[in-house]
Amino acid sequence: MNQPIRVTVWNEYRHEKNDKQISRIYPDGIHNAIGTHLKYQTDFEVRTATLDEPEHGLTTEVLTDTDVLIWWGHAAHADVQDEVVDRIHERVLNGMGLICLHSAHYSKIFMKLMGTSCSLKWRESGEKERIWVVAPGHPIAKGLDEHFEISHAEMYGEPFDIPEPDTLVFISWFPGGEVFRSGCCFYRGQGKVFYFRPGHETHPIYYDAVVLRVISNAVRWSAPVNGPKPTFGRVQPLESS
Ligand code: ZN
Repeated sequence: MNQPIRVTVWNEYRHEKNDKQISRIYPDGIHNAIGTHLKYQTDFEVRTATLDEPEHGLTTEVLTDTDVLIWWGHAAHADVQDEVVDRIHERVLNGMGLICLHSAHYSKIFMKLMGTSCSLKWRESGEKERIWVVAPGHPIAKGLDEHFEISHAEMYGEPFDIPEPDTLVFISWFPGGEVFRSGCCFYRGQGKVFYFRPGHETHPIYYDAVVLRVISNAVRWSAPVNGPKPTFGRVQPLESS
């Protein structure tokens, strides 16, 4: 059997401790809601890490042992140390997969990897979200129907100020009339980044079977492939003339 994919689920883990309504939805934190599901996948080895642990639980050792990092943050992006962000950035460029969920569009690591403001429109109204698969042949779309719905979501709307994704897998539609690029793949160095929109903290979205399937698919897609190590700089020709 192949080596398992080593997944680290990172959560800011503040809302669940400070807000009774949110702690009722995610009593063990969003990281454990996602992590518990991922542990059922026999090809994954799962651990969690949170902001208030030393070095946010993302020491060099942990990151070296991580194939795919899943990131959920919202209210405390600024509390993430730049040194840790740089460490994650380097790991992504060297092949680690990164999955940024929902409000992680404003996380330091996502903004650093994108190089743009990553701003968007939003409205907290609990409206329905219909998510269309626009790249049905992509590994992240495996096993999905043509579209799926989330009954109560926070709206995010275009324009979403990101670079053009290398592959756009999902587009969301909202009853208010907005649309949003909600599943975006990017290559950065040897690494792969997936942005996935669903997941506001006041809605039980990380228990949704389809959402969890997308996250599992994204873990498999973004896992390192151990391709050739690139070399740079001056070289001699391979052919003698
Ligand atoms: Zn939100």
